[in-house]
Amino acid sequence: MTNLVSELREAIGTKSVLTSLEDRIAYSYDSTFEQDLPDVAVLPESTEEVAAVVRIAAEQGIPIIPRGMASGLAAASVPFGGGIVLSLTRMNRILEIDDANRTALVEAGIVTADLETAVRERGLFYPPDPSSNKQSTIGGNIACNAGGPRCLKYGVTGDYVMGLKVVLPDGQVLETGGKAIKNVVGYDLNALFVGSEGTLGVITEALLRLTSPPAFVRTARADFDALEDASRTVNAILDAGIVPATLEMMDETAISCIEEAMELGLPLDIEALLIIETDGSDDDAVAREIETAARICREYGARQVMVAATEAERGQLWRARRSVSPSLARKAPNKLGEDITVPRSAIPEAVRRIKAISAEYGLPVVVFGHAGDGNLHPNILFDKRVEAEWETVEQMVGEIFRVALDLGGTLSGEHGVGTLKKPYLEEAIGSVSLNTMHLIKGALDPQGIMNPGKVLD
Ligand SMILES: Cc1cc2nc3c(=O)[nH]c(=O)nc-3n(C[C@H](O)[C@H](O)[C@H](O)COP(=O)(O)OP(=O)(O)OC[C@H]3O[C@@H](n4cnc5c(N)ncnc54)[C@H](O)[C@@H]3O)c2cc1C
Repeated sequence: MTNLVSELREAIGTKSVLTSLEDRIAYSYDSTFEQDLPDVAVLPESTEEVAAVVRIAAEQGIPIIPRGMASGLAAASVPFGGGIVLSLTRMNRILEIDDANRTALVEAGIVTADLETAVRERGLFYPPDPSSNKQSTIGGNIACNAGGPRCLKYGVTGDYVMGLKVVLPDGQVLETGGKAIKNVVGYDLNALFVGSEGTLGVITEALLRLTSPPAFVRTARADFDALEDASRTVNAILDAGIVPATLEMMDETAISCIEEAMELGLPLDIEALLIIETDGSDDDAVAREIETAARICREYGARQVMVAATEAERGQLWRARRSVSPSLARKAPNKLGEDITVPRSAIPEAVRRIKAISAEYGLPVVVFGHAGDGNLHPNILFDKRVEAEWETVEQMVGEIFRVALDLGGTLSGEHGVGTLKKPYLEEAIGSVSLNTMHLIKGALDPQGIMNPGKVLD
C-alpha cells in the first residue's frame, strides 16, 4: 500500500491522492445501498495523469474503479474489495464547441447540465436528458448509455457520441471516431465503450454531436380511468405518425404519492396519467401534433385532457412528473428504483404483474416511466432498517426482472447492469452473448483490473 500511494503521489501529485478514512468513505458508494472502502481515491486532471495511474495499477495488478458523480443506480462504481477509485470530476472542461460542425469536445467529468447550459448559450442543443443531469457526468452517461424523457424522439447518450478518448487497462490511450459524420472504417469502437460501465477503460474525453434546440414546445396531460387505455393510447399516438419529444406515464400509486406530498390537484380516482410533449421548429405543426395527441387520448378513453396554454401551465404539468421521486420519500424511508423495459404493447400486462408482486410480498410498488420507450421504473418502497423487508425487496426485484424477460423486454433501459443485475444477465442475453462479452473483456483487460466484478464476473 505504501508503495502504491507513493507511486501515485509521484505520478499525479499529493493533493490528487486521497487516503484518509473520511476521504475513502466519500468514494465508497454510489446511489444504491451498496458500499465498500477503496484503498485510495485519485483525482487526476488530464488524460496523461489518468494513463499514469492506470499504468501503476496495471504494474501492481490493482483494480481501478472509474467514477463520475456516483449517481449510478446499479452499484457499478462501488469499489467492492478495495482498489483505486479514479474520480473524473476534476476533468470537467469544455475543450471546444464547434458551431459549424455542431460538436462539443468535453472532458469526461463535466456535469451533464453544465454542458447543456453551455451549448444552449451558443444556440445549440444537447438532447440526452437523464433526470440526474445536475448530478451525473458525461463520462458516466456514456459508460451507462444514459437516457431520459426526451429519448423517445431524440435518442440516448450513445446516439450523440462521435468520438472518445479512452485510457485502456494497460495505460495506452485510444482515440476513436471523429468529426466526420459518416465513418465506417473498421469496428465501431465508440459503441464498444458506450454502456461498458467502466469495465473496458477510462473515458477521458468525448466528442459529442449537437443539434438545434426546438423553437416551440407544447405539453398536455391526460387522465385515464384505466391503465390499459393509457397504454393503448401510447401506441395509438405513435401509430398516428406523431413522435412526441416525451411520452411519460404514471400509475395510481405514483399519483397518490405526489398528491399526498404536493397537493397539485391530481385526481385520486384514476389509474394512470400521461404527460405528452411535442416540439419542433414550426409552431403550427407542434400545436397540431399536441391537438391530435389530445384527440387520440379522448378517443381512447381519457377522462380529461389538459393542454398547457402558457409556459406557467406547462411548468405545472411537469411538476407532477418531476415530483415523483421526492414524493416517494414521504411514503417510506427507502425506495429501490428499477428500470425494466418491455415492448410498448406489454406495458399494461407488466404493470398488472408488478402490482401482483407488490400484493403478494406486501410492499408498495410505484410504477412510472417513459411509456413511449416501454421503459418502466417500478420503485419498491420499504424500510431498510427492517432486515426482513430488505430480503423481501431482493426477492421482488428478481420477480420484476422475470416479468420483463417473460414479456420480451429486458433488465435495464438506462441504468445498466453494474453488480445488481449481474445475476440475471445470462438469462437476459443468452450464453453466446455473455461469452462474447467475456472474450472482449479478456482481450482488452487480461489482468481484469478495470472495474472488476461489474457487468461480468
Ligand atoms: C435521482 C436520480 C435520477 C436518475 N435519473 C436517471 C435517468 O433519468 N436516466 C438515466 O439513464 N439514469 C438516471 N440515473 C442514474 C445515473 O444518474 C446514470 O447512470 C448516470 O449516467 C451516472 O453518471 P455518473 O457520472 O454519476 O456515473 P457513476 O455513477 O459515477 O458511474 C456509473 C458507471 O459509469 C462508470 N464511469 C463513470 N465515469 C466513467 C468514465 N469517465 N469512464 C469510464 N467509466 C466511467 C463507472 O465505473 C460506473 O460503472 C439517475 C440517478 C439518480 C440518483
